[in-house]
This record gives sequence, C-alpha cells and structure tokens, in this order.
Amino acid sequence: MIMTLPADAHVHSEWSWDTGGPDSDAAGTMRRTCERAVRIGLPAVIFTEHLDFDGWLIDREDVPPEQAKLIEDGRLVPTPLDVDGYLESIERCRHDFPELRILTGAEYGQPHLFDDQARALLDLGSLGRVNGSLHTLEIDGQRAEPFTLFRRWPAEKVITEYLAEVPRMIAGSDSFACFTHIDYAVRYWPTETEGPFDPTRFEEQFRTAMRAIAAGGRALEMNTRRLWSWVPQWWAEEGGRAISFGSDDHATAALAAGLPEAAIMAEHFGFRPGRRPEDFWNR
Ligand SMILES: [Zn+2]
Ligand SMILES: [Zn+2]
Repeated sequence: MIMTLPADAHVHSEWSWDTGGPDSDAAGTMRRTCERAVRIGLPAVIFTEHLDFDGWLIDREDVPPEQAKLIEDGRLVPTPLDVDGYLESIERCRHDFPELRILTGAEYGQPHLFDDQARALLDLGSLGRVNGSLHTLEIDGQRAEPFTLFRRWPAEKVITEYLAEVPRMIAGSDSFACFTHIDYAVRYWPTETEGPFDPTRFEEQFRTAMRAIAAGGRALEMNTRRLWSWVPQWWAEEGGRAISFGSDDHATAALAAGLPEAAIMAEHFGFRPGRRPEDFWNR
C-alpha cells in the first residue's frame, strides 16, 4: 500500500513559453501551484520549464491566439527560457512554502540536437531534474510537431517515425535523466479517420524504443495526461529500472492529476519509491 504520493516531476509555470510567459495571464502560476500542492498533500514539485531551441513548422490553425506572436514565416519560434527570472521565482517559493520540496528542472526538447545551445544558456547539471522530450520530427529539412505531421503523413508513419527517433535521441545526448511522454504523438492520433488508438499495432516499435531508453540508463516517465497500463508493463518487461511521474500540468488545475493511479500501476509492475519523493521509483 502506498502511503505518500511521489513528486509531480513534470510541471510548468509562467516561465514556460507555452503558458504565455511571466507577463501573461499565467503570471503567478508557480506560486498558485505551490499553494495547491500544500493543500492536497503533494510532497514535492519539480518545475520543468520548457527548454526549446530553434523553431518548427506549424499550420496557422494549430496556433492558439496567445502564441500568435511567436510565429515567424510559418514557424513557431519559442521564447528562450529566462533562467534568472525562473530561478528567482523558485527561491521565492522555497522561502514561502518551506513545507514543500520545490525542485528546479527543465523539459528539454530534442536534446540530441541542441546540447551546445543548452550549455551556453545554463548549467544543466545544476538542475534537480532534466526531462528529455521528443516533440518534433524532421520533414523536408525542417522540424514539425505530430499534430502538423498527421496532416502530411499517414498516421502509421507518424507513430513509427516518432518511435524510431527515440534511440537516436538517447544515443545523441547524455544531458537528460528521464524520457518523457513516450505517447506524445498519440495525443494527436486522428481517431476520426483511424479509429481509437490501439497500442498493440505499434507494440514492437514501443518495445524497441523502451529497450533503447533502458539501455541508456534513463528513467521513463508515466505521463498522467493519459494513463496506460501497457507503459509500465512493457517498460518493466524490456528492462526498464526507473520510473518518474508527471502530470504535465500547465495551469495548476491538473497538478498531480492521475498520480495516485499511476503510482498504483507502477507498484503493480514492481517499481518502488526511493528515499525522497522526487527520487525515481526503481525495480
Ligand atoms: Zn512535452
Ligand atoms: Zn510538458
């Protein structure tokens, strides 16, 4: 029986470009998230703000109004992370919420392509957690998100190409400890034309990607936006040793959503908590 929740190790605040930034409606999200964490008894939060470099192809209809200012020539170019502002905000929250463990972190997009730029911006080793995320794939010499690619490629190709890039990302960068949301492309699966997503259709590709993550000594995130029991099951069967839990919350409301259920699933497949709430669960 699990007595305490793990850390929510994938949380965004006003310092992530896709919340609109610190001058937008998102202002104060970090503080509100800490207040809520204390209220619901969450022991630890890792603020993993987006660390993205370069931009990617995007279709006009995919741009939410608050991101319109980031579009340049049909490409979305994210605002660089304000490292100093973010760290000051963390320090203020640590001072104001001493009962909560508040860790620094980043959700680093496509780390296999941008380690030089990342090192120039900040010391990744000084962060409490670096999550590595694959958000874009190459198309015609550019990069694009899965929701854009599903309009240009057969659905099967999007998932297949996504999973095929995972081993290249692991081999291409040592700077992240945990691979996030392996089902990222599935979020945009075109159910209208393809029917409900069936993971067994891509089982071998998922297992191959998981083997590469495990062999690279990384943890796998259980991203609780959608809970799949096959994720911890296949991960354990393919040699995965460590699991992280993340809600991918962007606006406080989803903080820790699904964490208890994810923890029960992970425990079922043999993963056990570490000493501190922010530690990976291991088997
Ligand atoms: Zn992400
Ligand atoms: Zn995220």
